[in-house]
Amino acid sequence: MIKHIFKTSLFASALVISVPPVTAQAGIPDSLRLNVVFPSDDTLNFERIRFAGSVLPGSKVWVQGQDTFVYPTGAFVGMVDLAPGMNEIVFIGLDSIGALSDTIRVLREPPLVAFPSVPTVVNHRLVSPADDVYLSAGDVLEVEFFGSPGGVATFSIDDISKNMRMVELPKRVRNGLNGWYKGTVMIPPVEDYKPKPVHFRFRGKDGQVLNFESNGKINLFSPFIPAVGVTCDTTNIVQLKPEGEIWIELPPDIRLQVIGERKGLKIVRLAENITGYISVKSILMLPPGTPIPQAAVGNISTIEDDEWVQVCVNLSERVPVKVNQFLAPSGLELVFFRAQMVRPWIVYPANDKTIRSMQWWQPSSDFFVLRIDLNQTQQWGYKVRYVGNQLWFSIRKNPVLSNIPNFLLYGLTITVDAGHGGESEGATSPTGLLEKNLNLTYANMVADLLERAGAHVVRTRTQDTTLTLQDRVKISEDAGSHIFLSLHHNSIVPTSDPLRPRGSSTFFAVPHSEALAKTLYDRLVGIGLNPFGRIISNYYVTRQTSMISILVEATFMSHPEDERLLLSEGFLFDLALATVEGVKDFVRPLASPAPPILETKIGLPAEPDTTQN
Ligand SMILES: [Zn+2]
Repeated sequence: MIKHIFKTSLFASALVISVPPVTAQAGIPDSLRLNVVFPSDDTLNFERIRFAGSVLPGSKVWVQGQDTFVYPTGAFVGMVDLAPGMNEIVFIGLDSIGALSDTIRVLREPPLVAFPSVPTVVNHRLVSPADDVYLSAGDVLEVEFFGSPGGVATFSIDDISKNMRMVELPKRVRNGLNGWYKGTVMIPPVEDYKPKPVHFRFRGKDGQVLNFESNGKINLFSPFIPAVGVTCDTTNIVQLKPEGEIWIELPPDIRLQVIGERKGLKIVRLAENITGYISVKSILMLPPGTPIPQAAVGNISTIEDDEWVQVCVNLSERVPVKVNQFLAPSGLELVFFRAQMVRPWIVYPANDKTIRSMQWWQPSSDFFVLRIDLNQTQQWGYKVRYVGNQLWFSIRKNPVLSNIPNFLLYGLTITVDAGHGGESEGATSPTGLLEKNLNLTYANMVADLLERAGAHVVRTRTQDTTLTLQDRVKISEDAGSHIFLSLHHNSIVPTSDPLRPRGSSTFFAVPHSEALAKTLYDRLVGIGLNPFGRIISNYYVTRQTSMISILVEATFMSHPEDERLLLSEGFLFDLALATVEGVKDFVRPLASPAPPILETKIGLPAEPDTTQN
C-alpha cells in the first residue's frame, strides 16, 4: 500500500528531505508516482531477489534506504537481500509533489537446519518414501530420512530386507547438512504382494533408539501377470528420466506395459530394454490379464493430395511410435516399439516428388524402423496419428513459392501469434508496460508486413483475449499454416540481476524449424539488439511438428535499456520489419532457382552470390 510521507526526516539523520505541503493536487495518481511492479507481497525462497518499478521521470528513489538510479523513463531496478522470515522492503519515491512510500512484504521460509547430534530426533516430514511406490523384482528402491547426525540407522521391509544398513551422506551431498541417512535395496522376487511400509531403526549418539515407519508403502507387481495400461490423454508425454525432457509424445489409446510407479509417474516398458516415465494421469490401468501389445507390421502404402504425402502403415494393433527427424541428408524415421515386420510390402506414391526412398529394418525382435529419405532440402512438417490400427504418417510437401522479389511470401500461410492476452498478461516492465499489449502491437505490424509480402496471414488474436496454447496451435493447424510465429518479450526470474539478461532470442524445438530460427535471430540482432541466443527449447508451441514453429522473445522488457527502446518512437515497427525480413531470408533460397555453383579455391570461402538477393 502506498503511503504519503509528511515527516521531514525519513532515515533518521541519514536523509533529510523537506516535503512541500502539496500532495496529490497535481492530479497525478499515486500509482504513477511510485509503482513497484516486482516483487509483490509473496513467498520467495531466495537469498537475493530483483526489484523493479517506476516513478515520474526526474524523481528520486530509495530502496531499503539505498539511493537507486532512476532511468530517463522513470524506471528503477536492482536487487535486495532477503533474510530468513518476513522481510519488509521499503520503497520511497520523491518527486516535485512530495514523498511517497510503499512497503512490500516478502516471506523467505527459514531454511532447513541440521539437528544437533544429541538428543536423538527425526524429522518425520522428511522420511522417504513419503508416497506409495510401485516396483517390480529387480528394481532398486532408495529410502531416506533426516535426523540427528552421527547415529546408526537400518531399515527393514517385510519379505524384502531385514536390518539393512543405511549410510549418513557426506554433508555436501544434501543441502550442505549433516543428518541425511540413505539406504538402497534391490527388490527380490517375493510371494506376498501386500503393500508394505519401510520400518526404520535409528540409534543416536546418546544411545537412544527410535523406531518409525514411512508413510509411503511399497507395492510390488507380480512377475507372473504383467500390468498393462492405456494412454488416455490427447497427448501423452514419455520421459526417459523422472525429471527429464520430453522423449516421445504418444497419441491416445496406446497400450503400454507398466512396470513401476514413483513420484506421480508410471514406469512403462516400451521394448525389452527401453523404459520411460509417463504421468499417472496419462495412463488408465487395464484389468489384470490384458495382453502386452505386440504388433505385426503389414503393408505400407502412400497416398497424396496437393499438400501432404501420407504413409499408411498397417499394424495388427496400435503400438508406441517415435519419430526422428534428420536434416542432412533429409529424412524421417519411424520407430515402432514391440512391432515386427512380417511381410515387406512397401508401395511408393505414383509421382511423388517428396519421398526419395523408403527402407525398413528390424534391429531386434522388439522394434521395427521405417526410414523415409526425402527430396526436400527444407522440411515443412509432419503429423502422426492412428486411424483404427493403421498409422497415418503425413509429410508436408514443399509449398509452391513465388519468384517475384516483392511478393516473395506468396504461396505461404503464416500464423502470427501475439503471445499472452486477456487474463494472461505475460511479463511486466519496470514502468508497468504489459507484455500482452506489446505483443499484440508487434504482431499486428508483423502480420500487415507479411501480407504486404504476399503471405496469407492468420492471426491468433486481434484483441485482448484469453487463448490457451492449444487454441493457438489449433488455429494455425486448421488454417493449414506452413509457419507459426509466436511473438513475445522476455523477462527474468526473481533471482536474476535485472541489468544482465538483455536483447533478442529465438526458440525452436523441431529440427526443421532451426533454419528460420537462425534467419530471424540474425535480423533481430542486425538492428542492434543484444544477441541473447538461438535456443532449443521444448515449449508447447515450438514442439509442434506439423509446421515450422518459432517463438520469438524480441527483447528483455525487464531490462531498463530494452524497455527504453520499447518506449521509443518507431522501435516496434523496426522490430516488425526485422522479423519479416528474417522470414524472407528463410524463404528466399527456397524460392529462387538453384544458384550457380561457384568454384572455390582451397582455403578461400566462396563469394556470396549477391544476384540472388
Ligand atoms: Zn511471453
